[in-house]
Amino acid sequence: ATPTALLVGTGRGAQLGILIKGPEVLENTRRADTIVLDKTGTVTTGKMTLLAVHTAAGTTEDEALRLAGALEHASEHPIARAVASAAAERGGALPAVEDFVNVPGLGVQGVVEGHAVLVGRERLLADWALALPAALAEARAAAEERGRTAIAVAWDGEARAVLEIADAIKPTSAEAVRRLRALGLTPILLTGDNERVARAVAAEAGIDEVIAEVLPEDKVAVVRRLQDEGRTVAMVGDGVNDAAALATADLGLAMGTGTDAAIEAGDLTLVRGDLLVAADAIRLSRRTLRTIK
Ligand code: ADP
Ligand code: MG
Repeated sequence: ATPTALLVGTGRGAQLGILIKGPEVLENTRRADTIVLDKTGTVTTGKMTLLAVHTAAGTTEDEALRLAGALEHASEHPIARAVASAAAERGGALPAVEDFVNVPGLGVQGVVEGHAVLVGRERLLADWALALPAALAEARAAAEERGRTAIAVAWDGEARAVLEIADAIKPTSAEAVRRLRALGLTPILLTGDNERVARAVAAEAGIDEVIAEVLPEDKVAVVRRLQDEGRTVAMVGDGVNDAAALATADLGLAMGTGTDAAIEAGDLTLVRGDLLVAADAIRLSRRTLRTIK
């Protein structure tokens, strides 16, 4: 019988914290030529902070943050946590939410104090036939040029604020990308976030290829497309939205700091959630394979 989880290369694998589902996984560590890296929580820390609240005329920052915070309080997304905690810090209990809906990869919506509120990507605004007024569109573009994620807040049929949210690249990501390249893997950054933000993060991490603005359910299709091109695809991810793609990839590496869904879908788990260990895991697995053969 195959153990459900064993440590790659025992001693060293244990030390590094690499769990592998079974020996059949090892073969794909040898064949992989492409590595798809999820952005948020994998290449970046995923610990987001709210840096600024840009508001339309007639709207106060407190008002926007209070309504957005109430809504995001009900979501587990890293963006949601940043918004909810910033709102809570401004003081006072957050109002209750009715009819809460989480729209994966787009944002959240619900009713707060009688207002129909939505917080999320511009694409979600468009679904409501709303658009950012010129001044807020400018604030959004400027934020994205700085590599920040811009989130729109709308209520009562008008887009009234843009939240500027920062995530930081993990200190080991650039070195990890260098090592993955040295192992013959081509890195690709994959994200649901905006193209400009993705490009800024990719540049910092030393990644040339970016696939951005991908909806959670479309991450699988991206992996399949790469496979159809004849590539053998490894993928590293942490989120619920990465689980299906991790399962579809020839080699799925889950961040141990990520969601249970990702860990269950992956072939390998990087216990401490360090991307540097992804390169170690592949190198070590290849070596283990040689030892077995
Ligand atoms: P990633 O692929 O980088 O992990 P997601 O697919 O989770 O990102 O989200 C993609 C984008 O959708 C985010 O960058 C954000 O603009 C928007 N989004 C998703 N969930 C929320 C939320 N709860 N609040 C606001 N925006 C959200
Ligand atoms: Mg993620």
